[in-house]
Amino acid sequence: MNALPMVVPDATLPSEVMIWEVGARDGLQNESTIVPTAIKVEFIERLADAGLPVVEATSYVRPEWVPQLADAAEVMDSVQRRPGVRYPVLVPNVRGLERALEASVTDVAIFASATESFAHRNLNRGYDDQWEMFTPVADRAHAEGLAVRGYLSMCFGDPWEGAVEADRVVRSVRRLLDMGCESISLGDTIGVATPGQVTDLIGRLTAAGVPVAAIGVHFHDTYGQALANTLAALRAGVVTIDSSAGGLGGCPYAKSATGNLATEDLVYMLDGLGIRTGVDLDALVSTSAWMSDILGRPSPSRVVRARSHQGE
Ligand code: MG
Repeated sequence: MNALPMVVPDATLPSEVMIWEVGARDGLQNESTIVPTAIKVEFIERLADAGLPVVEATSYVRPEWVPQLADAAEVMDSVQRRPGVRYPVLVPNVRGLERALEASVTDVAIFASATESFAHRNLNRGYDDQWEMFTPVADRAHAEGLAVRGYLSMCFGDPWEGAVEADRVVRSVRRLLDMGCESISLGDTIGVATPGQVTDLIGRLTAAGVPVAAIGVHFHDTYGQALANTLAALRAGVVTIDSSAGGLGGCPYAKSATGNLATEDLVYMLDGLGIRTGVDLDALVSTSAWMSDILGRPSPSRVVRARSHQGE
């Protein structure tokens, strides 16, 4: 059974994709259960052992804001880092960056909003003011030789504003690139995008001079569209895909257990397309089955359920 899927390549798609694993950060940040530090460390190590090239590890936001990740320093001190694997951390400001530097990180991420409402909600400042907050962080990170990723939330829809104009997203991506971000993650934070919208937005970005190699996509499966949207992004030449092991994270803006695209569901599709990821699907499924036991609920990932007899 576990030899599935049958591999039938599609020559129009990239031959290799980099999966940016966000389960330990985005996933656990949005779970109601607070996971013990030692379990987080084991989780991160198992994800790297399963072949994931990028394992986003934690966030240096203030513990009052995200109590689930209050142990960022302890996690980064304890994780045995595998050579060749990157372990990015989120930093909201220079203070967070300084804490991350104490842990000798090589990759950081800042998180911006494409909309006014979410900038206020998530960053407590206006859309135009957020860039002032990030510029000193990006400057200092680059001076320290770190790579900086820019997350951009609400690229495809906003729960308070509804539709989000593509031009606004293009403008926001430009701001992040001008700040020196090497890569941008386009977030469908509420999981409402459909494939035509993905094709259109990526087309507009590349037409505006954004290199497709700098674009990553961060889809949520709230409305069951994440894999279809991923395929649209692959067709447009995107080769960095964010996902969360076991689909951890839920959706903070909808009453849904299904939020982040599950890494297993992504790997299954990419394996079937003959697209190289370096990920061992069985090792990943057993890691997510273990984590779902710890969280005390079945994984929302269809592949984890199919392969580990969960949710029967
Ligand atoms: Mg997410």
